[in-house]
Amino acid sequence: MALPEISLNPLSKVQAPSAALLAFFQAEPKEKGKEKKEEVVTHDLPVFAGKKIKELSDLENYLKGANCFWGKKNETLLIRAYRFGTASNLGLIGLGKKTALDTDTLRQVGAATYHFQKKEHLKDVTLDIQSILNTVRESKRAYSLQAFCEGYLLASYDYREFKKEDKSLFYPQGIELVGLKGKDFEKARDKARALVESIFFTRLLGDKPGNALTPKELARLCQEMARSNGLTCQILGAKEMEKEGMGLLLGVAKGSAQEPQLIVMEHKGGRKTDRPFVMVGKGVTFDSGGISLKPSDRMEEMKYDMMGAATVAGVMQACAKLKLPVNVIGYIGAVENMPGGKAQKPGDIQRSVSGKTVEITNTDAEGRLVLADVLEYAQKQNPQAIVDFATLTGAVIVALGTVTTGIMGTHKGLIGVIKAASEATDERVWELPLYDEYEEDLKSHYADIRNSGGREAGSQKGGTFLKFFMDKKYPWVHFDIAGSASHRKDRNYFSSKHGAGVMVRLMAHLLQNWKTLK
Ligand code: MN
Ligand code: ZN
Repeated sequence: MALPEISLNPLSKVQAPSAALLAFFQAEPKEKGKEKKEEVVTHDLPVFAGKKIKELSDLENYLKGANCFWGKKNETLLIRAYRFGTASNLGLIGLGKKTALDTDTLRQVGAATYHFQKKEHLKDVTLDIQSILNTVRESKRAYSLQAFCEGYLLASYDYREFKKEDKSLFYPQGIELVGLKGKDFEKARDKARALVESIFFTRLLGDKPGNALTPKELARLCQEMARSNGLTCQILGAKEMEKEGMGLLLGVAKGSAQEPQLIVMEHKGGRKTDRPFVMVGKGVTFDSGGISLKPSDRMEEMKYDMMGAATVAGVMQACAKLKLPVNVIGYIGAVENMPGGKAQKPGDIQRSVSGKTVEITNTDAEGRLVLADVLEYAQKQNPQAIVDFATLTGAVIVALGTVTTGIMGTHKGLIGVIKAASEATDERVWELPLYDEYEEDLKSHYADIRNSGGREAGSQKGGTFLKFFMDKKYPWVHFDIAGSASHRKDRNYFSSKHGAGVMVRLMAHLLQNWKTLK
């Protein structure tokens, strides 16, 4: 699927666009005490985001009488057969209150603009973006444009691999943003495009069903992506993992007919001597729960249990496309968790790369087993920092919903830069604690640790289990994306029934601005 075009021009060059779009702010409420006593149900008219132009007075009169558009955030209205310049239709886009305009609003408005075009079948539109950007500080204008473009492009995602071709489907061709000149703006637009292409790779991997995305197919797609972006990619099969002593990962794979894969991608953007930044992703291509079988309700959503892996793959792609100045290694442990005849059973004890033993008390707590082995293996690279991404616990959905990602870790400095990148990119994260008390519940009579410890504080216990396999000298943070990786409702630039692709923008920002941790 090709992304829609975004062209930047100081003057509109589209001869006869399907519509000209005008952006409006919502009127700010009047000060208290000045309201009239008799309540008249009228709304304040929206405020045009730009200089007064003479064509507007007719429109303002129309809006006064029509009671149909208030300039609320993401509100849209098409006025058909309303001539405006060379356009034969006029579209109105709401920006919300002027005092509340921020980058995420612009990202959302970008998405609303694309959805509006799609709904109204507007092939190409023009929008005076300068009038919007003039209301933000000059130093933030290029990034604000990037945010608008990100939202616009992210909204264009669709996944129809297994649907028959439908000629009646309409996809907008693109948008022309008018009023901007300069290399900085072009760079911002191109950066948005590179990020969104990477996020779409993450989403695509997630949306593929379990039978189409086996561990081997995931490895093949990563290899193909790596090759076309100039990354190195190495793949280890079951035999090689046996040699490395990955008993925990291999234990999970035992119940499946699919061979597990370890995928290692590398981006060399830093100096030769720089220690790598390491990422690890959980790639359970389907999670049935194994012998501790899940209930059948919504089990189909377990095809998304590889979104951690997909996040790593998307960030690796972004590293290459944006030429980020860091050495980065991305590891993916790809397995399928099934209850076949050879499956591991509750009570089984498996051994990790470093020789630690784990009593498997719940075969559905398999993600942490996969991660533990890959984290131990990855630490051999002497990383300067290490992060992992995983749809690890249902508990994180209960605690935080789908709107934010749970993070936890052992290094304040690393958590700090992650929170700063979260602020900068509007990709929300929320820190959960890793108190020593959680270790109590993971004690085993028979082994060094057990993999499941009751329902309370489930996400933190998942994190505590991983911490058991981490050498303290490596700054480490675990991202639990079980809630944020896929959504059940449409929300701005995320759509329901599709992978969300969260944390790719955050990680790209973090790596772009990476400094050695103190
Ligand atoms: Mn599971
Ligand atoms: Zn899982």
